[in-house]
Amino acid sequence: MAVIHFLGTGAADYSPLLGTDFKDGFDKNARRSTAVLLDNKYLFDCGEHALDSIRIANVNKEEIKFIFISHLHGDHYNPDRIAKIAANQSEPVKLYVREDAELPYIPNVKIMRMKNFVRYAVDQDMAVTGLPANHDERVKPRHFLIEYKGKKMFYGLDGGWMLNGTYNYLRNSDLDLMILDATCGDYEGDFRMAEHNSIPMIRLMLPSLKTVGIVGDHTRIILSHIAPSLNKPHDETAKIAGKFGAEVAYDGFITEF
Ligand SMILES: [Zn+2]
Ligand SMILES: [Zn+2]
Repeated sequence: MAVIHFLGTGAADYSPLLGTDFKDGFDKNARRSTAVLLDNKYLFDCGEHALDSIRIANVNKEEIKFIFISHLHGDHYNPDRIAKIAANQSEPVKLYVREDAELPYIPNVKIMRMKNFVRYAVDQDMAVTGLPANHDERVKPRHFLIEYKGKKMFYGLDGGWMLNGTYNYLRNSDLDLMILDATCGDYEGDFRMAEHNSIPMIRLMLPSLKTVGIVGDHTRIILSHIAPSLNKPHDETAKIAGKFGAEVAYDGFITEF
């Protein structure tokens, strides 16, 4: 059993209330930058608000030993926040990025460059494979297939639809959990859809993923990277997604898989 902790579930359109009313607390409608923590040790994305989320969630940042960066947009990657997580640790924190990502020197961080479609055994019972994502190519985007304690999880924040190579790689993978970008919410007609999903897009995509064994009836689908400016309030969004069996994450949401 693994514990997944959604520390941040927002897109880059941050609410000004994060600095005032919600400075020291989570709220389902005040979403911080995307970050997902697996068993307190593996952090997926570490952007602008990562340290605020870690503080509010009462997570010990020195337990974080591995950080995986999906791409270099500021809501997913912030070298200062990564440096602060690594600062007082006895061993360097391992930072996994796409092989061609340019990063500054970050003290006490070991940069691990990953090629797409190559499976890396990163720790005992933990392997990660980088897969191409449909997102701004300048920021070296990728999704992750995570194999952990016998379970399979897909992390797809950000990216619109699924690229052909990724789709074929994932055939018959029978995922246990799929975390998908739902930036544009239940909404039609936004420029961001060229590189993000809306909720109707996910609803249409899931049956196709089923036909090739990427997901099955048992697969949990959790939506995240929700842009508050393009979404209805959380509870309403959760109701819409629930009609086709998907859950909607919120900051502070903890679940097991
Ligand atoms: Zn983003
Ligand atoms: Zn992005």
